[in-house]
This record gives sequence, C-alpha cells and structure tokens, in this order.
Amino acid sequence: MKKVLWQELRRTEFEEAVKADAIVIIPVASTEQHGNHLPINTDANCCFTIAQRAAEAIDEFPVLVLPMVWTGFSPHHMEHLGTITLKYDTFVELLTQIARCVHAHGFKNILFLNGHGGNSAVIAAMRFKLGGEEGFSSVGYDYWNISPTSEEMEAVSETDKGFIGHAGEVETSLQLYLQPHLVDMDSAAWAPGVCGNSTVASREKGERIVNAAVEGLVKLLRDYHSGKLEDNLALWRDEVKAELKDQHRYPRYSPD
Ligand SMILES: [Zn+2]
Repeated sequence: MKKVLWQELRRTEFEEAVKADAIVIIPVASTEQHGNHLPINTDANCCFTIAQRAAEAIDEFPVLVLPMVWTGFSPHHMEHLGTITLKYDTFVELLTQIARCVHAHGFKNILFLNGHGGNSAVIAAMRFKLGGEEGFSSVGYDYWNISPTSEEMEAVSETDKGFIGHAGEVETSLQLYLQPHLVDMDSAAWAPGVCGNSTVASREKGERIVNAAVEGLVKLLRDYHSGKLEDNLALWRDEVKAELKDQHRYPRYSPD
C-alpha cells in the first residue's frame, strides 16, 4: 500500500521518493483553546487530515506528509486554558530547521500547509528567510485559502460568510465531521476567545469544506509538481531584482 506519512518510510523508500521528485508537506498548526465546545487540537486535526487525504489522492508522484508541527504562534490564546505556544523566534527556528533537514535530504519541493491564522504571517516571513539565508525555496498556504475551499466556505456558511473565524461556524462544522466525539454542542455558544457562531454548525457543512480543501490541495500539488506553481516569494524577489515592474504575481493561489 502507498505510504504518505514521512514517519512510516524506511531509508530506501526515502531514496525512491527523492528520485521520484516527491513533494513534502510540512503541516503546521497550533495547540490552542477553541472555546468551550471544541478540542484543543482543532487546527492540527483539520490541517493534518486535509494534507494526508490530498497526499493519498495523488498517484502520479509521491507526496509525503511530515509529522504535525502541533504547536505554533498563539500568544493571544494564552489567557485561555490548555494553549501551548512557542515564542516567535523559537517557532521560526523550528520551522527553519525542519525545512532545512528535508531539503538536505534532496527534496526540492516543500509545501507548508498552515492550519492556524496566527501562523500565516510568521510562515511567510520564515519562507523569505529560507530563500534568502538558506538558499532554497518553498510554497506556503493556509488550507482555508486554497480555492475552492474559500468559495465553498462562503457557500455553506450562514453566519461566517466564508470567514474561517475561530471555533465558530466553520471550525465547529469541520470538527463535527472529523472528530464528532470530541465536540460538546451543548456548550456551543459565544464565549471569550471565540470568533463566529458555532450554533449553526453542522457535520454536512464540515464534510463539504473538507472535500473542497482536499480537492484544492490536490490541484495545487499537481501544479507545484509540474512547475506551474512556483515560490511566489522567490518570484517576487527575482522580479524586483530584474526590475520587471509590469509583471505582478500575488501570493494567493487561484486556479485557472
Ligand atoms: Zn482554529
């Protein structure tokens, strides 16, 4: 059976994966409070599940998923119980070292899949660092910003209007689909640290959003492997260097 989880491969299987030009997904999320009704691994569970399902759906080339980077940058959640955050510098260094190791083994295609809003800007800055100081490129996306996920979120959400929020309609729906046994809908109400309306969440909405996210990520991985999708930060740097002011590219991924 095809393996997609990095930790399950043997040394010889890594050799084959490098030869086959595998893409390596580094899933990054958080361990942080999600209101009174959702488990603390909400971001990590959503991000990792989407990464794993997309990797399993691709047969033309290998896609490997690293073990979850389960803690991120969440100082703004520390006043709520259960949150584990890293300091900014520690988080950047952790991601840098992981990516450096992956690259050192010969993998040229590295994709950071992010599952926590507080990480987004940090990952973008860290990817600049990879390009500038470490000399290799990567791509990075929030799972909810990969088309058609955002469109599907907009279509199914009654109150969040396509906004990912925090422990609101979207994330509660995702958890009702992915980990229903860990959700307490009797406690689903606004509370400090919640953004959005969790009471209108449903399993069906969650399933549609996850399916859209997997579909979008599969297309993105294929585009990355074929060379159609490149490191937008490196492109930006190159463009500035070449003073090609008339060719602008944008960091948000949108398929044809
Ligand atoms: Zn979350």
